[in-house]
Amino acid sequence: MAQLRRIKGFADLLPDDCRVYAHMEQTAREVFTRYGCQEIRVPILEKTELFARSIGDETDIVQKEMYTFADRKGKSLTLRPEATAGVLRAFIEENLDAQGDDAVKLYTCGPMFRYERPQKGRMRQFHQINVEAVGQAAPQLDAEMILMLTMFLRQLGLTALTLEINSLGCPGCRPAYQDALQDFFKGMHKERLCEDCLRRKLTNPLRVLDCKAPGCRELVAGAPVISDFLCPECRAHNDTVLSLLDRAGQDYMLNARLVRGLDYYVRTTFEVSSRDIGAQTAVAGGGRYDGLVKSLGGPDLPGIGFACGMERLALLLGAKQAKPVDFYLAVLDPRGLDPALLLAQTLRRNGLCGETALEVKSVKSHLRRANKLKARYCLLLGEREIETGNVEIKNMLDTTQQTIPFENILAVLTPEEF
Ligand SMILES: [Zn+2]
Ligand SMILES: [Zn+2]
Repeated sequence: MAQLRRIKGFADLLPDDCRVYAHMEQTAREVFTRYGCQEIRVPILEKTELFARSIGDETDIVQKEMYTFADRKGKSLTLRPEATAGVLRAFIEENLDAQGDDAVKLYTCGPMFRYERPQKGRMRQFHQINVEAVGQAAPQLDAEMILMLTMFLRQLGLTALTLEINSLGCPGCRPAYQDALQDFFKGMHKERLCEDCLRRKLTNPLRVLDCKAPGCRELVAGAPVISDFLCPECRAHNDTVLSLLDRAGQDYMLNARLVRGLDYYVRTTFEVSSRDIGAQTAVAGGGRYDGLVKSLGGPDLPGIGFACGMERLALLLGAKQAKPVDFYLAVLDPRGLDPALLLAQTLRRNGLCGETALEVKSVKSHLRRANKLKARYCLLLGEREIETGNVEIKNMLDTTQQTIPFENILAVLTPEEF
């Protein structure tokens, strides 16, 4: 029969990968909890309208990249291409702001789906760790979220990181900047701007700024910068964020071209990239989205969030070694199979990790298996041990050996902290 294969752009995360992913998730949970973040898990499938409304009809995500299909009743559903929309939908629907807290901070992690050209570190099913903080417009929250993100990345052990920051202004001051950009791009001809940007320069000129096409990049270098257009409030907000980062000892670079892919960002926007995987690659990014909750039918609450790309982080982190186990229970006589399983059960009940042989083999092949598992102890159950109610314990590190009664085994084997 023909072998069935996975879909293009979708990956199996094997045990080696899962150790790295679990490590990222545990580190995120630990660091974010220090900041008062709580976990939330929302559905992977939502009504298409949610993403069209929050991400913006004009974006590449909504226009070209979503997995959208009709369910059996003809309703248009979409596999989430990002997490913010679903988390905010839940925040509104479940009245999570009812307590009147300064900010409700939520984190989540899981798979997202975008129909893009697959390449290294970019899959059609990819995984993100996301944080959303809703309910507070203060610039101190922006600084706190950025510091939390860099603490998380540093705690993972990443070092060659660059934090870039920009302010995108607000609905009050951004239109003047968009006009200036439109004027600047007006005279640009087809041979200089890419096809997408020829459209964007009319519909959303900010998006031309982060186009990766060489012609567009060259051209954008001379474009007006948003910092010249910020209103006094946006300027003060930005100054406070930057000053707090300075005083907290966090390095950053100002990048006037940093606009990010989504329409809903205002004021603070940021991106963290790494120089470790070839060309500089973004591993996390986010920003403030003050009008978004209201536009999804919720209260008029400000918010800020970020997402970390787990595939790219995994590339940076490399493989994580399998945790050694405490014991391997080798059986040398068929009568030992049942006692071995029951002995292993006792050991596990006492917190030890290990495996038991399910068939009789030679000592040599059992020891090979114990080595492969990186077991601290190999327990041997042969004819002589079964008859005397003993078990032979081989310390795999120093190769010492001793024979002890079954009931004393827990005195020798104690769970080790790794
Ligand atoms: Zn403004
Ligand atoms: Zn372009």
